[in-house]
Amino acid sequence: MNKQDGQILQPTIASREVTTHILKAFGLHMSKKLGQNFLIDASVVRGIVAAAEVQPGDRVLEIGPGIGTLTQGLAEAGATVKAVELDKKLPAVLKETLAAYQNVEIIPGDILKVNIPEIMGPGPFKVAANLPYYITTPILMTLLERHLPITHLVTMVQKEVAERMTAQPGSRIYGALSVAVQYYTEPEIVLNVPPRSFIPAPEVDSVVIACRVRETPAVTVRDEKLFFRVVKAAFGQRRKTLANALRGGGFPKEQVRDAMSAAGIDLLRRGETLSLAEFGHLADAFAAL
Ligand code: SAM
Repeated sequence: MNKQDGQILQPTIASREVTTHILKAFGLHMSKKLGQNFLIDASVVRGIVAAAEVQPGDRVLEIGPGIGTLTQGLAEAGATVKAVELDKKLPAVLKETLAAYQNVEIIPGDILKVNIPEIMGPGPFKVAANLPYYITTPILMTLLERHLPITHLVTMVQKEVAERMTAQPGSRIYGALSVAVQYYTEPEIVLNVPPRSFIPAPEVDSVVIACRVRETPAVTVRDEKLFFRVVKAAFGQRRKTLANALRGGGFPKEQVRDAMSAAGIDLLRRGETLSLAEFGHLADAFAAL
């Protein structure tokens, strides 16, 4: 530690040495089940903080702080951080590793179960995370579907998941996740992160994806629930035509024919060729029947 402007500078947790030291000092064993791969690359922490455009006074929700690696970067940028951690062993560790930061609160719990509006209070906030990969999609969908006042959602995800999030119609990997993410946000891959940036090194490549949440969804639909029912059905059976997939998803044959015709969508099209706007027209056509 060294001193600057009368302040004690904290050692940066995002390094192999400091992380290994903390793990040893607390006798921690990483849990594969909880998706624990801790960041040891300070440039990646800086990249996440920069992509979230964190300013002093910003309110940030962090998912899974681990031993406080990203939390430290967010706190040093001046954010007020609320960090939700499922591993019961970690809050005691975080109390020590982040002792210098008054602007951090650790909330023990499961991000899929905690009451986020109650934790974050009113007003806009940002989300930053190095997500546990085993539940990436449920976490993203939970955050997006609830129309929380999130402005930026910047997370580390498996590269292959980020590619699905940003995929365009016609691509082999375009699916329900692409539509949902692009309906609510403008996603952009901002950083490639190799396995060596973590302890332990994951078996997959990772990226940081920055999703700027749209003020209003990309398409205006009459019934959002119905829109997502149509999308889910359309991608439910990828090898079938859209008409057959919709029927397989529980929409009656006549309704499928009428809605597709009203929306101007050829009966032989496949779900993965539809743009967000076309899914919107189709859902509205079902709503109008
Ligand atoms: N943020 C740290 C970092 O960047 O080094 C740790 C990231 S690690 C990939 C994922 C973290 O999420 C772990 O600390 C894990 O215990 C936590 N976690 C796993 N499932 C969770 C859940 N359902 N709710 C909250 N945290 C969870």
